[in-house]
Amino acid sequence: MVTLKTITLPDGRELSYELTRKRVKNINFRAKEDGIVYVSANSRATVAQIEKYLAERADFFLGAFERLKKREERSEINASSVNWLGRTYPVRTVRNSRECAVIDENEIRVFTRMEDDPEYVLMLVQRAVTQRFCALCGELDGEVRVKLEQAGLKPPPTRITVKDMSTRWGSCSYTRGHISINIRLAAYPRETVLSVLWHEYAHYWHHDHSKRFYDFLLRFCPEYNKWNGLLKK
Ligand SMILES: [Zn+2]
Repeated sequence: MVTLKTITLPDGRELSYELTRKRVKNINFRAKEDGIVYVSANSRATVAQIEKYLAERADFFLGAFERLKKREERSEINASSVNWLGRTYPVRTVRNSRECAVIDENEIRVFTRMEDDPEYVLMLVQRAVTQRFCALCGELDGEVRVKLEQAGLKPPPTRITVKDMSTRWGSCSYTRGHISINIRLAAYPRETVLSVLWHEYAHYWHHDHSKRFYDFLLRFCPEYNKWNGLLKK
């Protein structure tokens, strides 16, 4: 059985606690960042005993809440933000054993018990970004192929690989039917990623960067210069 209660101290301050009855030997108290003292006690410990203890040590618990809150604020400031599809997402850690990151509408939430390890948190974020980006590339690939087919062209069988490249945004090995997309594009808008994919697909028909290549590219991706131009900055 779990009960959440608030006691009022003689000076008017309040202290909330949640009592869980468990087969434990001692009464255990733990202040958490949500401003609640979590208490576990066996059925012999009375509420009066527990509340007396809490009231006597109220300064300690309230001080602990302050310290936990400060730590949270500090971690918020220190937490890196991540650029995903042209927007900056703050990274928030949630203490939880799921050990994964989720890209939400407005933030990236990292569920981990190791929130104090920034490298590990970043690894979870990068893993989530890579997974989502691979899925996005698959989606965009589908879009490109449909458009080519609608124009009466037969796109060759293509394998898309997402990888970290230091010198280019994408590459097309037209003899092997293989396109590589740079994971660093995950920071740019969807249309920019699409512009790179169109560029690489255009190489199946034109192996150089001639005028004919760009005519082909702009026919399918009219806003190519606008979106691909973001990469030159
Ligand atoms: Zn090229």
